[in-house]
Amino acid sequence: MKDDVAAFKRRYGHAPALAVVIVGRDAPSIVYLEQILRSCRNVGIGGQLVEIPGRVSAAALRARIRELNDDPHVHGIIVQMPLPRRIPLSAVLDTLDPDKDIDGIHPRNAGLLTLGYDGFLPTTAHAAVEILKRSGIELTGRRAVVIGRSNVVGKPAAILLLREHATVTVCHSRTRDLASVVRSAEIVVVAAGKPGLVTGQMLKRGAVVVDVGINVVGDRIVGDVDMDSARPVASAITPVPGGVGPVTNALLLTHLLRAAEAQAQEARVGRPPPLRSVASSR
Ligand code: NAP
Repeated sequence: MKDDVAAFKRRYGHAPALAVVIVGRDAPSIVYLEQILRSCRNVGIGGQLVEIPGRVSAAALRARIRELNDDPHVHGIIVQMPLPRRIPLSAVLDTLDPDKDIDGIHPRNAGLLTLGYDGFLPTTAHAAVEILKRSGIELTGRRAVVIGRSNVVGKPAAILLLREHATVTVCHSRTRDLASVVRSAEIVVVAAGKPGLVTGQMLKRGAVVVDVGINVVGDRIVGDVDMDSARPVASAITPVPGGVGPVTNALLLTHLLRAAEAQAQEARVGRPPPLRSVASSR
């Protein structure tokens, strides 16, 4: 990233920059967001934390996001979730400029993903599948189970696995007999937010497990997989912490650089880059 950011600066004369929006003071989120901003600084990316008081109205939040959309010195925007209850998610989704939506939450980017075009991917789902690909795990034709169907993790992870030609089943809180579905899988991606949901007894021997969950239990951070029972059964498993999380942060920076590149090109040639379909999707 450092080299790529340096090359970007040489080419365009400015650094890529991220705006991280947080609504209301939430200590764990602030720690996490400051970590992202530190990663930005480490590779030469500019970053600002935009703290908005928790009592903000939806209209005022929209107005602040529009300012960031219009700010030529901001190339990517992420908004920390969850929002305060009073503010509908649509206040962010409908307002965010899809070209600055580097975490792939805007309906345009979700549509591009679904139809096999190269938009911004939800970063955590991207990380889960990127870990499998970079670890040399064969995905074509293999049976994958994704636990969780949220728009930010489960659903996009399932679509990305389909793109890699896996045979994908998506499970959720109403799935009957989760254990038997999980036992059929060679690849298991767990994103439920339930500590200990997947145990070694539920896994097929040799399964590859990506644990996306982040749960605070007492003073520890654990995933959704019971590591003690799963480790002896799985052939590979991502740790929590230290697995999907850091890869997500790193990929977010690559998404930002891509956004900055597209915006710089658009400023030069006067039109946005054309849509590209993704070769491996059908
Ligand atoms: P979410 O919106 O709460 O979605 C959770 C999903 O899990 C839902 O689809 C839910 O089913 C399903 N689920 C809940 N309990 C279940 C059960 N007992 N059996 C089967 N499915 C169950 O959460 P999210 O935003 O997708 O996040 C999921 C986890 O990933 C959380 O622990 C979160 O902290 C973590 N996360 C990690 C990163 C990272 O960088 N590593 C980033 C984002 C999120 P229904 O749809 O039926 O309710």
